[in-house]
Amino acid sequence: MSSPDTHTPNPIEAELRPPARLEDTLARVERLYREEVAPREQALSHRLSDERAFLDEAGKLHPEIIEARREIMRAAGKRGVYSLHLPERLGGGGLGREDMIYVEEKVYGYGVKLNPAMLSWSEGATPRLLYCHDHQQEQFVGPLVRGEKTSLHGVTEEGAGSNLFDMKTRATRRGGDWVLSGAKAYITNAFDADIAQVLAITDPGQGRRSFTYFMFDTREYLNKGYRIGRVFQTMFGDGYTGEIFFDDMVLPESAVIGEPGQGFDIAVMSFNYTRMRRAGMCSGWSRYLIERALERVKHRQVGGRPLGANQGIQWMIADMYVDWLQARSLSLEVARSIDTPGPWYRLPRPKDEVRRICALKVSNDESFYRVADRALQVFGGAGVMRDTDINKLFQIARNLRIPGGTDEVQRTTIAETLGLRFDPSKSAPAAPAGDRAGRS
Ligand SMILES: Cc1cc2nc3c(=O)[nH]c(=O)nc-3n(C[C@H](O)[C@H](O)[C@H](O)COP(=O)(O)OP(=O)(O)OC[C@H]3O[C@@H](n4cnc5c(N)ncnc54)[C@H](O)[C@@H]3O)c2cc1C
Repeated sequence: MSSPDTHTPNPIEAELRPPARLEDTLARVERLYREEVAPREQALSHRLSDERAFLDEAGKLHPEIIEARREIMRAAGKRGVYSLHLPERLGGGGLGREDMIYVEEKVYGYGVKLNPAMLSWSEGATPRLLYCHDHQQEQFVGPLVRGEKTSLHGVTEEGAGSNLFDMKTRATRRGGDWVLSGAKAYITNAFDADIAQVLAITDPGQGRRSFTYFMFDTREYLNKGYRIGRVFQTMFGDGYTGEIFFDDMVLPESAVIGEPGQGFDIAVMSFNYTRMRRAGMCSGWSRYLIERALERVKHRQVGGRPLGANQGIQWMIADMYVDWLQARSLSLEVARSIDTPGPWYRLPRPKDEVRRICALKVSNDESFYRVADRALQVFGGAGVMRDTDINKLFQIARNLRIPGGTDEVQRTTIAETLGLRFDPSKSAPAAPAGDRAGRS
């Protein structure tokens, strides 16, 4: 949708005010979008705006879209955009969380087509890579950081979501190897991932020391202990959420990320990363929706006058703005407080920081959901139609309240770190306060 008033300054954009230190970085992001993303979106518009063409016959993401995303990831890697969030020693851009909010909101502000592929996502180059060993650098870390390969993150099981301690996937030692058995469900990028990062129980009953992360090449092990299952059809029709199985799969000791027993801490750290990423994502997408809604109500005529001339509509737009502004302001404040003592991925983190990250997720998920709900309402019947950005973002906004640890789990952690912890369960060992934050 083109803006009808391209000559008037965009009032929301004028409020973003990124710091001057990010000028070059944001210009690089802009060039990447114009030169690598927009032309591909144009070329694939028939697939991106029609859900039947978006998926293949099996209901999975169409290979042409997968390839376009991969091309964008590689281009973003070459231009130093893809992994801006990671430390320079891993090949990243070394930005802190506050700066990443400005970058992420710019990227997501382009809409909901191929643009999210410009930045590493939660299954790509995540801070779990900080725990990889030297022998894992060339095969896994480098290609993930450069956007040349993608990963999946296998934690959830059909019987184990909000509480990691319900997990059934086990890895047991056999000689110098590990034997992995179990299944993971609702896994993003299950069908196309080059690399798998999987959490398993290795030492049951040891509390947070019970878990270990493993990393392996999916193609090397496919049908040799590793199996890909069905596609789950999500409400937003992404075509890349699936299940995976480990049938007594034999992995060498060298497949361990970090140390055996360190999996829980690495998981919590990477869940925190996923949660913090909500800030720029929800800000960018909220802004996109507010701008689309503003255009719509200025030009849509109802009863002989613009829709936006009605106070009821104006208040909906005003509420969208308030939601956007308060979530974004909270996020910047939380990010600054997290950046101040040093890189956020250094463990252990204080409990008040964990609490603020949970607050950031809840605030962004719920504000963005309200923004998306109102945008759809303002668009009327046109907003209900599938294959529109408005509808797609509404579906995505509803979904975001579940993954990354549901918003109820965030509230539980907030309450626990405020001293409200009443239920040391007898049947399941409880995580230490502030670490229940389990869940990807
Ligand atoms: C699109 C999508 C992509 C995903 N991608 C991945 C992925 O790549 N990798 C991965 O490992 N997982 C992934 N997940 C799984 C996701 O992390 C889980 O769905 C989520 O953690 C919730 O677990 P659950 O579905 O088992 O819900 P449950 O744990 O069964 O919870 C059901 C409901 O009960 C609430 N609830 C649970 N416990 C409590 C409590 N103590 N107090 C109050 N309320 C509670 C929850 O908030 C939720 O509303 C994905 C999920 C989705 C939808």
